[in-house]
Amino acid sequence: MKNTSISLRLTFWFSAIFLCGFVLFGILMWVDLAYSLSQGRDRTLSRRAARILDVLQSTADEPAVIRETRFDQLTDVIPEGNLIQVFAAGGDRLLPRNAAASDFPWPPISPTPRGRYRTLNVGSRSYRLLDLPVNAGQDYVIRVAGQLEDNRNMLTRFTAGLAAAAPVMLALSALAGYLLGRRVLQPVDQITAGLRSINIGNLSRRLPVSPSGDELERLAETCNQMLSRLEDAVDRINRFTADASHELRSPVALIRGVAEYALRNPEIDGDSREAFGEILAESLEAGRLVEDMLTLARADAGHVAAMFERVELGEVVEDVCARLRPTADGKNQSLVLRTQTPAWTIGDRSSLRRLFSILLENAIKYTPAFGRIEMELAVSSARATVTVTDSGIGIAEALLPRIFDRFARADPSRGEVSGTGLGLAIAKWIAGVHGAELTAGSREQEGSVFTVAFPLAE
Ligand code: ADP
Repeated sequence: MKNTSISLRLTFWFSAIFLCGFVLFGILMWVDLAYSLSQGRDRTLSRRAARILDVLQSTADEPAVIRETRFDQLTDVIPEGNLIQVFAAGGDRLLPRNAAASDFPWPPISPTPRGRYRTLNVGSRSYRLLDLPVNAGQDYVIRVAGQLEDNRNMLTRFTAGLAAAAPVMLALSALAGYLLGRRVLQPVDQITAGLRSINIGNLSRRLPVSPSGDELERLAETCNQMLSRLEDAVDRINRFTADASHELRSPVALIRGVAEYALRNPEIDGDSREAFGEILAESLEAGRLVEDMLTLARADAGHVAAMFERVELGEVVEDVCARLRPTADGKNQSLVLRTQTPAWTIGDRSSLRRLFSILLENAIKYTPAFGRIEMELAVSSARATVTVTDSGIGIAEALLPRIFDRFARADPSRGEVSGTGLGLAIAKWIAGVHGAELTAGSREQEGSVFTVAFPLAE
């Protein structure tokens, strides 16, 4: 039961409780019916005895033969009339006179008749027996018997009916429990779906709150309050990152400027030149890191300085390729460009340029000299796809799923070239802003392929 859904658990409990209730109700009804039937049977026997008493009283002063005739007439019309006898107080049977009139195995009459009912089993059949002492001029004992078979049959039919109804009731209660559970938990599903759709990029979204005044309303409100606190905290972190990056720009630029100035001095010694060279390289790297952090902090804060317009992707791709071709040539890499134009999309030209630059720069950076790099733009009916394929060092299988995360970089022991680890995160963000899908595939030591699929403009 641990992993089952609440609605299934509700169904189970609902059915179990319903079944227990049904069984209890059945037992109570059965007992009540059995009691009523037995009471009814006893009352019938008592009524029959009363009618016999009437005969005895009305013929008290008549000759015996009149009494016998009246008795026979009555027992002929009473149901089960053959199961009625009248005894003298001493125990001799008086009526019916003909002992053979009944082949019923009567038990001997007790000398002190109890005037009570008892049950008699004759073979497989059961009978109810009443011995009623009366006085009608003289003392008699009226004995009346009646079969219990009809009552038994009725109880058996009732039990069979209950047993047949139990599975149907169980199925109905399970269905009712399931539907009820689903209905009650539907708002929980809506809250779950709402929360799932909220991520770090759209923390300003809130769950819809229905004014039902119940626990679910309070749950939705609590979630919304938590989202507000999270949004506040994330805003503060974003502002801090943006402010810190912004503040770091000037000192980093200053360090680079000083290093460049020092290197321009022909009189500095070799060691100093080497040291200033390192400072220059590191400050360039730090400058790039600061810029990337600022870009992402602004992206998180929703400050997108973009101008969306109709852009022909072929032009942008060719532009980026032309700009980076000298770098590839410097590593003796072959850079092949294939474009299928026109490929119109809606986008911000400079952001797109940055996106393709990140992918192509990485391809050049992580492909050894004399490697092969291909950039291709293909157009299908609904999409324009830019693919950058290289024959470089590839990406480890463990890193691939996190490759677009911030600061995700390969193991430094692989001795890779320097970088910020933010390029692909920026690329992913730019793709997202354009409604495009950026994916990566790679095999270590064989190469990587990055694909961006853009929706085509109308
Ligand atoms: P970096 O500034 O380190 O290049 P990126 O976000 O652009 O940051 O890339 C993250 C990491 O992904 C890189 O450090 C590198 O390990 C790996 N990577 C990216 N592109 C490639 C590629 N074409 N071939 C192999 N590894 C790559």
